[in-house]
Amino acid sequence: MFSSDKKLGIVGGGQLGKMMLYKTRQWDIYTKVLDPSKEAPSRMACNEFVQGSLTDYDTVYNFGEDCDYLTIEIENVNTDALQKLEDEGKIVHPKPSVIKLIQDKGLQKEFYQNNKFMTSPFALYASREDILQALNTGKITFPFVQKSRLAGYDGKGVAVIKTEGDIDSIMDVPSVIEDMVAIKQEIAVIAARNSQGEVKSYAPVVMEFNEEANLLDLLLFPADMDTYIADKAKKMAEDLIEKLDMCGLLAVEFFIAENDDVIINEVAPRPHNSGHQTIESCNVNQYEQHLRCVFNFPLGETTVHTKSAMINILGDKGHTGPVEYTGLDACMQKEGLHIHIYGKKETKPFRKMGHITVTNTNLEQAKTIALWAKKQIQVKSLQLQS
Ligand code: ADP
Repeated sequence: MFSSDKKLGIVGGGQLGKMMLYKTRQWDIYTKVLDPSKEAPSRMACNEFVQGSLTDYDTVYNFGEDCDYLTIEIENVNTDALQKLEDEGKIVHPKPSVIKLIQDKGLQKEFYQNNKFMTSPFALYASREDILQALNTGKITFPFVQKSRLAGYDGKGVAVIKTEGDIDSIMDVPSVIEDMVAIKQEIAVIAARNSQGEVKSYAPVVMEFNEEANLLDLLLFPADMDTYIADKAKKMAEDLIEKLDMCGLLAVEFFIAENDDVIINEVAPRPHNSGHQTIESCNVNQYEQHLRCVFNFPLGETTVHTKSAMINILGDKGHTGPVEYTGLDACMQKEGLHIHIYGKKETKPFRKMGHITVTNTNLEQAKTIALWAKKQIQVKSLQLQS
């Protein structure tokens, strides 16, 4: 792969792809990226850029035809095209069949159930009408969580229905209806597997959410938690990646219940927002680890050498248009504070525009500085709002 004429195609050109490309640049691996936006964050770091739909069969197939290896940085892609490319001899990781399974939260839940991985009790429904009927007959009871089976992304396909008063929020889409879990803590584990079957995982990270945007707010790494529960989550993530027989990264989101049950919520078969801080905290970060899996290189060490807290830089409420950042200069004066700006030219409310990782020997201190930084930074558009 190094300085060769082999080509890696990445379907999706967002920030996750961009951070993967830091390593392909360092290793001199030739890359080609597909993304619908001509201003995709990955554009500046790849060798070739193609603007086009990720979900259109012909676009994805044509994109992949001259690649030797293919991977993804988002799971909402045309898997039939990737399957055809795999059938024709391209190396595609993760496997299109695994991406297809994970795209559908219903199939995901059935996979956990069939393979005896603990997940919250659920049932599948085709429409809003079916859900209302099941409520009437007492098959579903309040409170519950509705998740769109397809293309749910960053909290947009999730509705928490607590009482009769929330009924209007029930979406009319094929859905997973889940029991509400009494959550003590939300954590994630990123596992990696190459095609020789070597498996490694990072320590769990704690995820704290922004209720309003239903988006990740703060990460603490490594999670300050009971080692028995942390080891259990790591083991579950490693078992799951093996069961899926996949190569690449698998980010596994867990709920730790009030009674300490370790419950799988959902997975993503790619680098993940919950692993950004591995750039500063580990010798081999998640992006490099993903590439090592795709190319079947030996996996890198996952040890945490420095603790960290991470916050997402999100677009401010009420601002849509060309972006202007303020407060970054104040942040630059803090020791151990690392700024990442993805390069999205347009901001909108809660759009992920960048992130900040704060490294510190003391995790509480890292958290305090990260929350301070969040207050300093404003992500606005100075264009007049309509
Ligand atoms: P997304 O794909 O949008 O990230 P998630 O499945 O992660 O959706 O759900 C978003 C958030 O909603 C979770 O992080 C959690 O806080 C809450 N949530 C989801 N499912 C449940 C559940 N069964 N019980 C309680 N809270 C839940």
